[in-house]
Amino acid sequence: MMINQVKDKEALLLDLIETKLKPKVKAIDTEAFYAIDFLKALGKNGFFSSTHKLDEAYIVDEMSLVEKVAKVCMTTAFCLWCHLAALTFLRNSPRLHIKEKMLPALENGEILGGTGLSNPMKYYAGLEKLLLKAEQSEGGVVLSGTLPAVSNLGSDHWFGVIAETAENKRVMCFVPCSIAGLELKERTDYLGVNGSATYVCSFQDVFIPDEWLITEDADTFSEQIRPVFLLYQIPLGIGVTKAAIADIERVKTKQNSCNQFLHVQATDLKNKLKQAQQRIEDRVIKGERNWKEIVALRLETAYLTLDSVHASMLHNGSSGYLKDSGPSRQLREAYFFANLTPTIKHLEKVLQS
Ligand SMILES: Cc1cc2nc3c(=O)[nH]c(=O)nc-3n(C[C@H](O)[C@H](O)[C@H](O)COP(=O)(O)OP(=O)(O)OC[C@H]3O[C@@H](n4cnc5c(N)ncnc54)[C@H](O)[C@@H]3O)c2cc1C
Repeated sequence: MMINQVKDKEALLLDLIETKLKPKVKAIDTEAFYAIDFLKALGKNGFFSSTHKLDEAYIVDEMSLVEKVAKVCMTTAFCLWCHLAALTFLRNSPRLHIKEKMLPALENGEILGGTGLSNPMKYYAGLEKLLLKAEQSEGGVVLSGTLPAVSNLGSDHWFGVIAETAENKRVMCFVPCSIAGLELKERTDYLGVNGSATYVCSFQDVFIPDEWLITEDADTFSEQIRPVFLLYQIPLGIGVTKAAIADIERVKTKQNSCNQFLHVQATDLKNKLKQAQQRIEDRVIKGERNWKEIVALRLETAYLTLDSVHASMLHNGSSGYLKDSGPSRQLREAYFFANLTPTIKHLEKVLQS
């Protein structure tokens, strides 16, 4: 892309964030408002397009997109991550039919997507049993079971799931929210990220035709896509960290600069952030996508995000302690980032085994 085109794209993104996201952040945080128009506008304006791009190029662009959105609202950046996860499933699917049918609509934002892969990720790491069962049937599979939380869903959305067959095989399917037998129950009682359109998904004999199968070999497929799945999560934490640092700097001179006596300062966080970003650049973006390296960076980002939002709460004092303040929202969002699969405990397990 030419320099001017890159600049135009950046300006367009900032404009969309300014006009379609910023005015909604309070409602997203306090009224469980789901920023669907903003997400669709990103698609409409080409921010999810992989056409004529190598995968390295669109991954870097999309990571930067997640970071910029997370700096303003991690809840919406998380929805964006859900959509990017769904895109990753289809971009890498060996089944051309579903790819050709669904990918263009997902890349132009006509359809939004989500991922029900927390439980399978925990299954593959030896933490849980698989919650969805698949029974072979004429022309497809029949799914049963319940996923306790899937985000970025709506009446015309689709999401990826993995289910186990009686033959001890795992298949991955792409499921429309409107399908018969699937019950969605909205959850808005979380500590934060309630504007993430999160639902309990109960499958009761849901028939999925063969054409919606992403892969018949989910074991190999999930190993193949999990590095990118995780890479897209890292900028969620980077964006929140940058917002927390900005909030710390904003109150630097308050009360005769009394904050200078606090143990954690913006410069400490900035240094750690710079080092983490350098490692991401050197080892993952330019280097090969080594799984344990990505896990280590994801873990480091989760701890840095928690440190940053804690520091911001101390620097911001009682104005930060207001229920709907930026620092309070970021604190709650950061705890979700720490408990988003792979959670900190899950990441520690992977690194230590
Ligand atoms: C707001 C929010 C959005 C999420 N969005 C997604 C998503 O889009 N896709 C996705 O796959 N995962 C999603 N999750 C799950 C998330 O990624 C983590 O897996 C989860 O937050 C924490 O996992 P944990 O390992 O601490 O297990 P825990 O949450 O402690 O779960 C342990 C066990 O309890 C079960 N369980 C947990 N909650 C319930 C419940 N309410 N009812 C019945 N059983 C339950 C789990 O299935 C698991 O077997 C979301 C979670 C939250 C809080």
